[in-house]
Amino acid sequence: MDDDVFQTSLQFLKGVGPRRAAVLEKAGLHTFHDLLHFYPRRYLDRSTVVPIRRLDDSGAPVTVVGTVRAAGLVPGKNRKRYELIVEDESGGRLTCVWFQGIGWVSKVFKPGDRVAFHGKPQRYGSRFSMTHPDFDKLDEEGPALATGRIIALYPGGAAFQKAGLTSRTFRRVIYGLFKEHGLKLRDPFPAWLREAYDLIDGRVALRAIHFPKSQGELARARTRLKFEELFYIQLMLALTRQSREEVAGLRFGPPGAFVHRFLHEVLPFELTNAQKEAVRQIVADTQSGLQMNRLVQGDVGSGKTVVAIAAMLHALDNGYQSAFMAPTEILAEQHYANLRKYLDPLGVEVRLLIGGQRKALREEILADLAEGRAHIAVGTHAVIQEGVAFHNLGMAIVDEQHRFGVMQRAELFRKGERPHMLLMTATPIPRSLAMTLYGDLDVTLIKERPAGRKPIQTWLRSEKRRGEVYDFIRRQLREGRQCYVVYPLVEESEKLDLKDAESGYEKLKAEFRPYKVDLIHGRMLPYEKDEAMERFKRGETDILVATTVIEVGVDVPNATVMVIEHAERFGLSQLHQLRGRVGRGGEQSYCILMADYKRSAEAEARLNAMVQTDDGFAISEMDLKLRGAGDFFGTRQSGLPDLKIADITQDQELLMQAREAAFELVRRDPHLRDPAHADIRAHYEAHYAPLRDGFARVG
Ligand code: ADP
Ligand code: MG
Repeated sequence: MDDDVFQTSLQFLKGVGPRRAAVLEKAGLHTFHDLLHFYPRRYLDRSTVVPIRRLDDSGAPVTVVGTVRAAGLVPGKNRKRYELIVEDESGGRLTCVWFQGIGWVSKVFKPGDRVAFHGKPQRYGSRFSMTHPDFDKLDEEGPALATGRIIALYPGGAAFQKAGLTSRTFRRVIYGLFKEHGLKLRDPFPAWLREAYDLIDGRVALRAIHFPKSQGELARARTRLKFEELFYIQLMLALTRQSREEVAGLRFGPPGAFVHRFLHEVLPFELTNAQKEAVRQIVADTQSGLQMNRLVQGDVGSGKTVVAIAAMLHALDNGYQSAFMAPTEILAEQHYANLRKYLDPLGVEVRLLIGGQRKALREEILADLAEGRAHIAVGTHAVIQEGVAFHNLGMAIVDEQHRFGVMQRAELFRKGERPHMLLMTATPIPRSLAMTLYGDLDVTLIKERPAGRKPIQTWLRSEKRRGEVYDFIRRQLREGRQCYVVYPLVEESEKLDLKDAESGYEKLKAEFRPYKVDLIHGRMLPYEKDEAMERFKRGETDILVATTVIEVGVDVPNATVMVIEHAERFGLSQLHQLRGRVGRGGEQSYCILMADYKRSAEAEARLNAMVQTDDGFAISEMDLKLRGAGDFFGTRQSGLPDLKIADITQDQELLMQAREAAFELVRRDPHLRDPAHADIRAHYEAHYAPLRDGFARVG
């Protein structure tokens, strides 16, 4: 749609001009289209405005509409502030206060202005006040409000205010845009789609989101636009999958001697049913003639590593090499040791690739991989570095895959000719998020833990009961068990971090003499970390004091106590990961959260969640709710597009429908060639296809 008027630059829109266009540009708004999809952040109508006299202490944000009676700078004890006294029809008075941006706010208001303020009222003496409220000047719209029209309020901020881009300006400019070009708008969705999902017309929705006639209409408009937003993301996933399925993948045969001997001769235990199912799925995928892209999601301790080993041996049975990438050196070393233990007897050649290896050794390893003498490479990011080449990589595995960026997974993929990909994560993520982040992958859930595992008991303890906690640890040590004591990472400052752990280490050494206490942290050299880890594994160390370097994957079944210091400072998923370091053998294990009484409500919620459940899925649902999707496991890094109106946590039902619709569309029309789908295709290509590389996975 080259002639699409909605692709016109905003500077050509009446009421905008080059200066404002530059400000809008910075906010990511370039074209008419972008402006139409710049959704209001809030609405004002009579039913949502609270009279000042009726404000209360609930702490909930409210909207108040009043007239400015006085405005000015107030000298304060520490710093000056800017204050407004606002009065409304109820006769109540509210104070609005700014400590920051005083320069520009003081130019915004004058007595007599009618303004809507939005914020959390707090009571000071007999009067309420709001600090740094959102505001919208309404002067010309008082009467309109009185007649009950719903007024859209747009995202604000100093840059917009300075350029005169107030809500009123947005309303006026967008109104003008509709008036001039509204008839040229088209609904990208074909009728079948609208009907199947009971959606209103896209043009109607766009107009209503800016100029709603009723709350009902607004709600329908929001549903339609949320659906659309989620739909295009799902379309991106559906098309990625579709294009992958059009190319042949390596076709493996049935499982052979290596897999058989590993499972039946070498492995000292039987696979759980969930593990068997995972292996069965991997085998089926690799025999299908398509390239596998499977995510194995299993809670900590569910035994994903043996599944990975089986997958690698399956590749070897078919004459292919494998790569196994882990996020930390400790983990890579641990996998390496495990692989050697299980695979040396089978004559499988395994190589370790990590940073800081001697040049001669590294070169030898690289040659073995390039010439096919080595069958499996296990390592850190070192595996995807330049210079690493495989003879024929057929199976690429990423452990703790959420710790890697999309690009890194893609780099691993490019080390072979469309190798099968197996991604593993110990962080079960909520279904809705999985559907967005990994919506084009096949997913295996390992919900079962190996037999004989007892649920970990989790206790929350304050400083006062430290003595008791130590007595408890002593009893466990006396029974031959081992213990971790973990200190948090304080705001990425490794130094501080270290100080905490180091002084803890000294104290514990004195406290638990003659038991052996050891320290491990991120600043140590790789070989020092290894040695400390090895001593702990061999049982020579009783208590391992650690920073969060041991967070992922570390496996020492004899360790039964995990003490987490300053537990209130950790995120929920991180706490759960740490707890997963114990409970890996048959013994009852314990996780003790040491926390201050002074803690935020959110910290309280996290700690309680830990005490209540050790089900990783329940934990991750809670974590998503507490943190919101944007923050969840670096979804930024994953390339998940920003959502403007939909919310993955809130709109799960719509998400499922949008997904179904997108996959159905691609099933009906795999390349979107049907003229009825031309608008969807154009919109997708303009706005989503460019994201795909960064977003969608490999393959
Ligand atoms: P994760 O899924 O967290 O990566 P691991 O693969 O590290 O879990 O396995 C945790 C522990 O459970 C390891 O010590 C492993 O040897 C053991 N394990 C794995 N599968 C089984 C099984 N089927 N029966 C008994 N122990 C098992
Ligand atoms: Mg693991």
